[in-house]
Amino acid sequence: MTTINLELSVHTSKEGDIVDITDQVSRSIAESGLRNGIATIFVKGSTAALTTIEYEPGLLKDFHDMLDRLMPRELGYEHEKRWRDGNGHSHVRASLIGPDLTIPFSNGELSLGIWQRIALVELDTRSRNRNFALSIIGEQ
Ligand code: ZN
Repeated sequence: MTTINLELSVHTSKEGDIVDITDQVSRSIAESGLRNGIATIFVKGSTAALTTIEYEPGLLKDFHDMLDRLMPRELGYEHEKRWRDGNGHSHVRASLIGPDLTIPFSNGELSLGIWQRIALVELDTRSRNRNFALSIIGEQ
């Protein structure tokens, strides 16, 4: 059993940006030389999240609309009262979606559905550089 810990990053353009990081993760697994195991991905930061999604415009909009319905910006967030940084909604959205994923891989390929993509969701109110930890745990 071998573990390879990597630190990867993406630039997000704005609040709500959903960045497809599938190719970055796939490439890292291919380069690792490991054939079978699991990949864990963890985004560092409490206003970004990771999920999987079918990456098509309709669903990306549905996802944004869902966040607006469940956790509207203009609710009275205690975080906002305390810090005045305008991102109370960003924090609760990030906590609900979650910061991490675990995805198996076999024969060097991620075990994803045909249309299933790995997505990093920017929930803060501005563009950011996002670092995420990728741990590839497996054997050759
Ligand atoms: Zn904040």
